[in-house]
Amino acid sequence: MKLIIASNNAHKIREIKQILGDRFEEILSLKEAQIDHETVEDGVTFLENARKKATEIAEISGCCALADDSGICAHALNNEPGVYSARYSGRHGDDEANNRLLISNLRDKADKTAHYACAIVLAYPDGSTVSAEGEMHGQVIDTPKGENGFGYDPIFFLPEYGMTSAEISPQEKNRISHRAKALNALVEKLDKGEKDN
Ligand code: IMP
Repeated sequence: MKLIIASNNAHKIREIKQILGDRFEEILSLKEAQIDHETVEDGVTFLENARKKATEIAEISGCCALADDSGICAHALNNEPGVYSARYSGRHGDDEANNRLLISNLRDKADKTAHYACAIVLAYPDGSTVSAEGEMHGQVIDTPKGENGFGYDPIFFLPEYGMTSAEISPQEKNRISHRAKALNALVEKLDKGEKDN
């Protein structure tokens, strides 16, 4: 069966292909499948957004579709920015402004702990879904460090490595990340034949 990844993000697509490559005849990005569709991400949870993206693409294409939604949750801020991570500062995808705002909102908080969360949903053309979630825990620091990764990685410190997630190697991050954990949990469910509905 063919799988369409509801994303055009090359980094995510490579990671998903590595983990799910041998389970599907072909894995295509939205662009490769020539699907021009923007899902309105108005869910209040990562899972709701991922489910909406995956089921819309499965319905449009008649193929299996996989979508993820992720973000950073700061514990002293009631898990903000959460589903608003990409547009926290008001401008979608402005990583530097998002990082500055998160640092500033945590400035007078003693608790700097946070986690990245990722929800992944695989939707079938008949409307059934399989979903899984993963987390990676760390602390938000004031001074960005490291050149790898993206988004909040330069200010996301991993105490067990003594480095930020922008300083560890991309291979190591792909091994321990929220996305990798969610994908591996999804593979386990596929192996067991588990579905949500
Ligand atoms: P999306 O899942 O592509 O919508 O990403 C949501 C936003 O969460 C991204 O734009 C980043 O700001 C943040 N984010 C999600 N995962 C990561 C990560 O692994 N590192 C850094 N930022 C992330």
